[in-house]
Order: sequence, then structure tokens, then C-alpha cells
Amino acid sequence: MNESFDTTRKADHIAQFIHAKAEPGIKLAEPPTDALDAAIAGIEKMHNVAYVDALRTGNDVLLAESQGFDWCPNIWTMAVHSTAGVIAASQSAMQHGVSGSLSSGLHHAKPGRGDGFCTVNGLAIVAERLAADGNRVVVLDFDAHCGGGTAAMIAAHDLNESVRHFDLSTNTFDGYQRLHPDDRLVVVRRGDNDYIDAVGEMLDEIDWAGTDIVLYNAGVDIHPEFSRLTVALRERLVFARANAESTPIAWVLAGGYTFGMSMDELVDLHWQTITAAAGFTTQLR
Ligand SMILES: [Zn+2]
Repeated sequence: MNESFDTTRKADHIAQFIHAKAEPGIKLAEPPTDALDAAIAGIEKMHNVAYVDALRTGNDVLLAESQGFDWCPNIWTMAVHSTAGVIAASQSAMQHGVSGSLSSGLHHAKPGRGDGFCTVNGLAIVAERLAADGNRVVVLDFDAHCGGGTAAMIAAHDLNESVRHFDLSTNTFDGYQRLHPDDRLVVVRRGDNDYIDAVGEMLDEIDWAGTDIVLYNAGVDIHPEFSRLTVALRERLVFARANAESTPIAWVLAGGYTFGMSMDELVDLHWQTITAAAGFTTQLR
């Protein structure tokens, strides 16, 4: 069952942790009904009909399980709620500067199928919605793995002009050809200092004045290859920069697994993202 897998299960642990902490400035909310409706419309618009049908019905089991989970009806419900969370986070970020969603398993999903534990691509779905409203979007992807699903979605829907893709990875899984000269795909395999340098360089290469919102795929699966402190430092650099540039930023959890650590350690890693985000109240332009 998909519920047994980290990508769908860890959000519950993190939500409970946030409740228990009751940290000032951090507020949990369910996605509103209109975000759920928008999520269904976005999934149907951005993913192929046959794949969407497979997710809903499980009839084409190869397609329905292409992300790597056994199919059950909750997969569709999970995909809709996950996407609605990203939509709500982007709307909240546009209003308040910084917001996030406990969604994960997005950036490998392609128009016609899932991949690498990613069912639907909430990053691309939300980027398209924002671009349709005239916004210039940066998808900033610091998950350990490359965001080949997002690149495929951007290409399939001709979003190259309004959506920039900045991707810093530590593993070549789901690599892809850069779509636009202003996009970046960099792989740093080891070395905490090299990684942090690459984070700074990538943040410097973003055209902040020409960016209306950043969608940040905050995968923490660079750990344990890279240290917990490197994760914490990376998150501070990202949110401090968005704050300094007065640019809205909406984050999602993305990768992070209990293969080599306990659930408590994994929650603590994602907590680095949440507290770094909460530490900055971006004053919008
Ligand atoms: Zn990953």
C-alpha cells in the first residue's frame, strides 16, 4: 500500500511534529476546497488522459503503478491533495511572501506516467497555473535527484519562456537536456563545501528582478552524503535570498527517506526547511 511508503507517510509525522512544537509563525492548514478543484483541473490539463484515467481506476496497472507504488484508490486522493497543497502554498506565498506544502514525490512525474515515486508533478502543474496568470516562475530544485519530470512537463506544455528551471542535484537519476540557455542543471557528487558553493552560485544566477515567484523543491535526500548542517545552511541561504530579493517563495518537502535513518531523524531534516522558511517574513515588492 502506498501509505506504507515514506513519500506519502512522512507528511503525517511532520504535521504531528509541527502541532506538538507549536512554534510561533508556523501554522498548519488544510488546502481549501477551491484548491482541490483546481488540483483536479491541473492534473487533467498537464498529464495525459490515459495516465489520469489509470490513476483514478487502476485499470491500466502498469501505468497506475509507474511511479513505483502498488495502486489503490487512495493514490488518486493523495495526488489531488498533494497538488492542492502546492496550489494553496503558491497562493499564500504570493500574498504573504513565504509558504509551503508538506507535499512530496513531484519532480520525476512526466506527462504520460509517474516515475521515481512521483505520481503527479505538482511543481509543473502550479508553474503552469502561475505562468497562465502572467507570472515568471523559477522552479528551484535542490532535491538530490534531477528533475527530469519537471523538464519533460515544461517542454510538453511549451512553458520555456515563462518557467526557468534551476536544478542542483547530487545524483544523476532522471537527468535531462537543458531546455533553455538560462536554465541550470548542476550535479555535485560530494563535498559539503563544494555543495554550499554551488548553492550560492545557483542563487546568484537567478534573474531575481525578472522572477515573480520561486517554487522550491526542498529535498533533504542529499543527506547522509552531505551533512545535516549543510542541509540547514542551504535552507537558510535559499530563504534569506528570496527575502533579500523580496520574491515570494513556496516550498515543498520532496525527497528524504528512512532507508538510512529513523523517521525522527527524517522529520528533523525537513524541520530545517520549515524553520528556515519561518525565519523570514518576505516583504514583497
Ligand atoms: Zn530525490
